[in-house]
Amino acid sequence: MTIKYIDQLDLKNKRVMIRVDYNVPYDKEMKITDDTRIKATLPTINYCLKNECKIILISHLGRPKGQIKPNLSLKPVAEALSSLLNMPVKFVDTPLGDETVNISNELKNGEIALFENIRFYPGEEKNDKSLGELLAKHADIYINDAFAAAHRGHASNFAITEFVETSAAGFLLKSEIEYSQKTIQSAESPFGAIIGGAKVSSKIDVLINIISKVDFLIIGGGMAFTFLKSQGNSIGNSLLEDDLLDTAREITRKAKENNVDILLPVDIVGAEEFDNDSPRGVYPIEEIPDNIIGLDIGPESIKLFSARIREAKTIIWNGPMGAFEMSNFATGTNEIAKTLADSDCLSIVGGGDSVTAINKAGVTDRISYISTGGGAFLELLEGKILPGIAALDRD
Ligand code: AMP
Repeated sequence: MTIKYIDQLDLKNKRVMIRVDYNVPYDKEMKITDDTRIKATLPTINYCLKNECKIILISHLGRPKGQIKPNLSLKPVAEALSSLLNMPVKFVDTPLGDETVNISNELKNGEIALFENIRFYPGEEKNDKSLGELLAKHADIYINDAFAAAHRGHASNFAITEFVETSAAGFLLKSEIEYSQKTIQSAESPFGAIIGGAKVSSKIDVLINIISKVDFLIIGGGMAFTFLKSQGNSIGNSLLEDDLLDTAREITRKAKENNVDILLPVDIVGAEEFDNDSPRGVYPIEEIPDNIIGLDIGPESIKLFSARIREAKTIIWNGPMGAFEMSNFATGTNEIAKTLADSDCLSIVGGGDSVTAINKAGVTDRISYISTGGGAFLELLEGKILPGIAALDRD
């Protein structure tokens, strides 16, 4: 796939439409609680400002499902962006049409307009061509910088590219592609993946794809118990997907075929109840009592996993090692985050929970790359071509 990047284009005097992902969390007072996604677009916006063009920003927020939902307005985002850039950002809530095309046409070089939530239009999620065409009327150049939405093929990141002359990726999309996609394709060995989280079922495709690419695979979290059970261990009351025992065996067999080590927990921290205050204990994997739920990896597992992480040159991580939202079961996830940060390897972390864990462990600035994508990051790990990226390759 060959796609263009924003720094290969002549932007001067052009109307540059940037699809950004400003799907930021809000509190009840409509205050943005985390502006990471806004900040992540600043390199592209600043580059546009430097290159004297007119900037039109398109984003979604939440799931209004094609209806106008005032509580999902992007207006607070326009204000937040304005204060980050220290310049005005015109917020356009006029419905898309001739009037808004005039607004775009009248923008001067160095001016920015943010349009209202694109998911207020039913055509957005349907990848409606007429909406794509309408959006394209505002753009001489289309830039996609919305990695977190790139696993969706919607009007504002897919249909639109049929109607604009030039489409390219912004700097955020560029770094996501370079770090995540290219790393997975040509990682420096030893290359390991740490996959955790609740269920095997939500990560089967990731596991199957990754197994032929990595040198070792660490499996933690609730999903480890289906693997442990598939190898004949008693797992007490821990999370089990009975119907996936064969899948777990198949993945284990594939790993052997590819000379890939699968590392599973050798001990766990467990409790009788799924409750932070439930009395907990450490159990070797062969000695999990029937009434115990495994809620974190144990100290020996931390040692085992950490030793392999320290030897690695490249690590990708998705999914916590335990039910880390409960502080008494967060140690495993926390320690793995710290080991990763302390290691010299190229570390790439993606997915909401893993990123939260990295932030909680206070090691964010020592991770090589933190993806802004949840679903999009997972689909990259699954080896899928993301529609939002593929649409940029129309020539
Ligand atoms: P996922 O979205 O699949 O990455 O899963 C994340 C969720 O898995 C988090 O909410 C964790 O609390 C949960 N989780 C991790 N380990 C366990 C476990 N051993 N038992 C139950 N839930 C777990």
